[in-house]
Amino acid sequence: MELAARVAHMRGDAGNGWGILFRAREMIAAGESVVMLSIGEPDVKTDPAILTAMAQSAANGHTGYPDIAGTMALRAQIAARVQARSGVPTRPENVLVTPGGQSALFSAHSVLLDPGQAGLFVAPYYATYPGTIRSTGAEARVIEARAEAGFQPAEADILAASAGARTLLINSPNNPTGVIYSDATLRGIARACQAADLWLISDEVYDTQVWQGQFQSPRALPGMAERTVVLGSLSKSHAMTGSRIGWMVAPEPVIAAALELAINTTYGVPGFIQDAALFALRQGTAFEAAVAAPFHRRRDIAKAVLSGSQALRLIPPAGAMYVMADIRPTGLSGDAFAARLLEEHKICVMPGESFGAAAAGHIRIALTQADAVLEDALRVLRGFAEAQMP
Ligand code: PMP
Repeated sequence: MELAARVAHMRGDAGNGWGILFRAREMIAAGESVVMLSIGEPDVKTDPAILTAMAQSAANGHTGYPDIAGTMALRAQIAARVQARSGVPTRPENVLVTPGGQSALFSAHSVLLDPGQAGLFVAPYYATYPGTIRSTGAEARVIEARAEAGFQPAEADILAASAGARTLLINSPNNPTGVIYSDATLRGIARACQAADLWLISDEVYDTQVWQGQFQSPRALPGMAERTVVLGSLSKSHAMTGSRIGWMVAPEPVIAAALELAINTTYGVPGFIQDAALFALRQGTAFEAAVAAPFHRRRDIAKAVLSGSQALRLIPPAGAMYVMADIRPTGLSGDAFAARLLEEHKICVMPGESFGAAAAGHIRIALTQADAVLEDALRVLRGFAEAQMP
């Protein structure tokens, strides 16, 4: 029996670099204690008040087939949020509720890309990006954002890669670098999209985790609302990773196409999850700031512990729940550094190589452990790095 070629194509031939994670899990299963600074799972749990709203909704009978595009109340709430944050007029008809940001990423590419075309994405990148683009049958074409340029993608590089391309996927605040794209970068991206007639897919799932400057959505730039799809999620902003709820904001024809896709795939998000999301979003920005606060604090801890070392250089962390460090002075690759740190010190970080060649010689540290645990682990990590110096 043969499988469809589609998924083999989606998988591609690149390793995904998650080997280190599997090794760490093996060690934990064998009873060892490992400090996991690897994946973006907040240690903060969903607020009990959100869970109560969820349970009440289910108890009140919101357990049938859901509104597939999302309840009107939730779509209106998301539209208002996006409009308030970006200044761009946004109506409920511009919103599709999805089972998480990942589903929104998949839908956006599915409705905008055809086999034979190319979808652009920026490295260092979030692990699922190339596979999601390839799932459409299109080519996933990478644009390297260079470490020397502070991991800000260049307009010229986008243009140079744009032949045959239909979409460009960006992510700011960025996973894995913790970088936020500057106004100049976003304007360059907008110019490139207009010149090469690209749809811009803007992954804004970390929009509440901004430690420096202000969050800016490229959808607000002149001429961009009609060619931009914004992806959002409550996973990080409200510590709701397991609820699987996010959204896509786009021009109405894109939403209509994505709804057709949803009818044939997810059939929507459970009503009680949607009601919990509505409750969560209604708590307002102070609640979101409180969920984000531990990551801001830990970013400051990382800066304090890791700054000034000869063995590693912190990429200035402006947002998101990660910090990235250049460990090339140690003479080790990111892969070797992460592997030895795990075996010798029981600390698991992600090698930069798993986010694309642009992040080779770097490691990504997720700020997902309690402050004191993180601080101790970072001191050990710094000591390990310094011990490798020639
Ligand atoms: N985009 C980025 C950049 C992410 O880091 C993640 C999750 N870590 C997602 C999208 C998807 O998140 P979710 O599906 O939980 O919303």
